[in-house]
Amino acid sequence: MLDQGSDFDSQAELQYDRNMNGAWERAAQEFMAVAQRLWERGLLAGSGGNLSLRVGGTSYVMIKPSGVPNVDCRPETLLGVDPAGKVVIGQGRPSTDTGFHLGIYRARPDVQGIVHAHAPWSIALTLLDYRELPLLTPQAWYNLGRVRVVPYAMPGSKEEDAWVIDAFRDERMVAIMLQRHGLVTVGPALSTAENLAELVEETA
Ligand SMILES: [Zn+2]
Repeated sequence: MLDQGSDFDSQAELQYDRNMNGAWERAAQEFMAVAQRLWERGLLAGSGGNLSLRVGGTSYVMIKPSGVPNVDCRPETLLGVDPAGKVVIGQGRPSTDTGFHLGIYRARPDVQGIVHAHAPWSIALTLLDYRELPLLTPQAWYNLGRVRVVPYAMPGSKEEDAWVIDAFRDERMVAIMLQRHGLVTVGPALSTAENLAELVEETA
């Protein structure tokens, strides 16, 4: 279960932890830049989808609060969660997809950033009976390797979390598609996951 809020003893402690020698601010700047680009390119409409990244030098993951558009997030509204999903930086309820984000980070130490987007062409392709995304260009084949379509499960459910995490246990896996839902990409930086998300959408 995800904790509903933080339990910092004092505001001073919160401020101290937010600072983290600038790591929080740097992670937030990266989050905001990627969110802005994906929003401009039509991959992040409304409050759908969610980005996350590891906050450098800590065990925390930065993710958006539930119901808030990625593109509207700022350093003071973003949340930091510990590996168990407890909110340790900021106030609010983390995205309903925090479970699979954290599960991927647990399964894949190489992953530093994750993009989950309700990308329209990708969703359309999953309505057809593909089990994998057909990789038609050398660029797609080279960069994506193999993109499985994970069967539909209720967004935010434990079932969906389990399927997504399981798909990424293979460390060659950098992208998957979620039937009737969207895509998930991972990378050694959030910007890498961003590029892969765009490539999946272009390929679809
Ligand atoms: Zn979603």
